[in-house]
Amino acid sequence: MPPQPPMPQPQRQPGVQRHPEAHPLLGYSSASSGREASWEEKFRAGVSASHIRDTMQRLSARPHHVGSPYDKDNAEWILARFKEWGFDAHIETFDVLFPTPKARLLEMIKPTAFRASLQEPPIAEDPTSAQTSEQLPTYNAYSADGDVTAPLVYVNFGNRDDYDKLDRLGISVKGAIVIARYGGGWRGVKPKVAAEHGAIGCIIYSDPKSDGYFPGDQYPNGGWRPRDGVQRGSVMDTDYPGDPLTPGVGATPQAKRLAITDAKTITKIPVLPISYADALSLLSALAGPVALPEWRGALPITYHVGPGPAVVHLQVSSNWDIKPIYDVIAILHGSKDPDQWVLRGNHHDAWVNGAEDPLSGQAAMLEEARVLADLRAHGWRPARTIVYCAWDGEEPGLLGSVEWVETHLAELQSHAVAYINSDTNKRGYLLPGGTQDLERFISGVARAVTDPETQMTAYERSHLYSLSTAKTADERGAIRKRNDLEVTALGDGSDYTAFQDYAGISTLSLEFEDEEDGSQYHSVYDDFYWYTHFVDTDFAYGRALSQTAGTAMMRLADADLIPVDYSPQAEAVAKYEAELEKLLKDKQDEFRELDLELQEGVFKATNDPRRPLLPPQQETIPPFINFAPMKNAISLFRKSAERYSRLLGTYEAAGSPELPPQSVVLINADLLRVSRLFLNSPGLPERPWFKNQVYAPGAYTGYGAKPIAAVREYMDEKRWREAEGQVPQVAQVIENVAAGIDKASSDLEGALSAVQIGVSRAQSPP
Ligand SMILES: [Zn+2]
Repeated sequence: MPPQPPMPQPQRQPGVQRHPEAHPLLGYSSASSGREASWEEKFRAGVSASHIRDTMQRLSARPHHVGSPYDKDNAEWILARFKEWGFDAHIETFDVLFPTPKARLLEMIKPTAFRASLQEPPIAEDPTSAQTSEQLPTYNAYSADGDVTAPLVYVNFGNRDDYDKLDRLGISVKGAIVIARYGGGWRGVKPKVAAEHGAIGCIIYSDPKSDGYFPGDQYPNGGWRPRDGVQRGSVMDTDYPGDPLTPGVGATPQAKRLAITDAKTITKIPVLPISYADALSLLSALAGPVALPEWRGALPITYHVGPGPAVVHLQVSSNWDIKPIYDVIAILHGSKDPDQWVLRGNHHDAWVNGAEDPLSGQAAMLEEARVLADLRAHGWRPARTIVYCAWDGEEPGLLGSVEWVETHLAELQSHAVAYINSDTNKRGYLLPGGTQDLERFISGVARAVTDPETQMTAYERSHLYSLSTAKTADERGAIRKRNDLEVTALGDGSDYTAFQDYAGISTLSLEFEDEEDGSQYHSVYDDFYWYTHFVDTDFAYGRALSQTAGTAMMRLADADLIPVDYSPQAEAVAKYEAELEKLLKDKQDEFRELDLELQEGVFKATNDPRRPLLPPQQETIPPFINFAPMKNAISLFRKSAERYSRLLGTYEAAGSPELPPQSVVLINADLLRVSRLFLNSPGLPERPWFKNQVYAPGAYTGYGAKPIAAVREYMDEKRWREAEGQVPQVAQVIENVAAGIDKASSDLEGALSAVQIGVSRAQSPP
């Protein structure tokens, strides 16, 4: 690639920084804020892009999937670094079920013979792509073993609504093998839904429309997936993450294990991922109806649905071995509140060399740790305990983080202040996910970080970006009124899952993204050569990630009061509730209209006999649901949150004097508890591992969040009465949260009056 031109320096008009960093910092007294700001500045200045580059090069030098020699070697290397820097560090090992390919065969036997290559060939320019003897072959981990032969059907993304469309075409996948394209949701949903519809095998391919030559030039000329590139990945079902054999307990040597046949998260049918070169031969052998316009990808063919005449033979089997995983845990003990833990994590295992996923995040995290240790050598002491975690086994199913959280649940619930996750890092905008009690906090951090491409703050760039992507004038109006970045809800895409969904710990997920020049996701080509030619080539955004997450770690560790603010969270939960009501109304309207059109004969009239479409199934119009208990609970939550925000405002307006130490202890104990109150012990009705009643992934979306899943998922299933049945217990959880915040407010009020800051109880909410 040609050298990058120097970045133009944007002109800044003096005095129009619209979103300056607030001082004192949230949760700090004016004295402690000043000290903190100067240490943080030293920290950010100390972060080096070339260190991040060197670390990535070392860790990505060989394939390092779970169970490989270099996975263990990397863990030991990471441990040695932490020790060298003065962390109290160790490796914690778990024994997990990790299947690797034994047999993989995909061939077409009719109408012509074709055998899929299932290989990603070395590319001359790319040195590590030739490490074939150590590479894990292309496969989907936790696919069932199977040997099946059947006609092929193209099912688009293979989501549930795609099967509704197939029904209208009169096409059943019963007894068929389906071929789905990647995208439109999490890969594990595809074999699950296929099996639910009676398919006996599932092939998943990367269509060049979103992942190949359509968005940009193919590797190695450009950064995009080449014709033989394959996306590996786990297809473990979402009942619970982590080791399939030890749900709810750590996979320690003495743990009781399920028999493999009893593990609910292994797929029901065999699954195999393929490249678009292999898919082209299969898809071009399909006849039957032409695929709907939105089903068509970017291959040079007319997309047909089938079934057949292509008949394929799919054979998949795995070595179902128990493998060790190595989590590296490194601690800087707190000087003032050692029992309050601020946690940070990023996985170190990859599918192959994994430069972007996960080393772009891992290398940035290690650089943070190095610089924090350096500050410590120069006199900085974190007030709270800082825990850095380099997880193993994320790729197969969040194994390292889930098993660790399950093992240490009680300690974490009494000590954890927050968990900050990262994973891949690219270029562009900081778009944080997480729990919104940290929204104001992380927005403050983003105001302290300089975006390397524009020299504006990371905050301001993300804020302006959100204006450019907003779809309506209302949305833009709302964004212009905001003082904070929007923190979006997380599902289960990375190692934050157990912290947020299982342990009830406030969470942030940080990444710079959306200026992509390519993707080699889960391929042998996601390596150092590719990353340094097509992604964050100068590690400027690796440095920005280090600066952002490291500043957040310091600021959380040193704040007098845990720097949460609940108003953004109450607003977010109110929005999630409003979405439930809207979903119900939309479904009522949709099904009422459908009923009408069926009666009017719309589908009969518009049926082209040469391209017949069956009318859609009639649907029962959903009954009204009583959301009142949840709405009442949310108005309590809002009131409590506003009260706490107002007290913080009063404190800040009074110049943030130092608060009496014994009050600070009380308030922090209250604040530490609040995020735990989002849990209830029965968990989600269909997935009891997931305890959080507000934040959860969807059973049919994977990665994607389905806030208030207990209600929402029954609505998606059209089980309206059961959805309504979940409302009171969700309401109870929200009331508990409100009461927890009130406790903190009362203690803060007491602290303020102890330092002669008057709090007018009559003050009305802003
Ligand atoms: Zn990852």
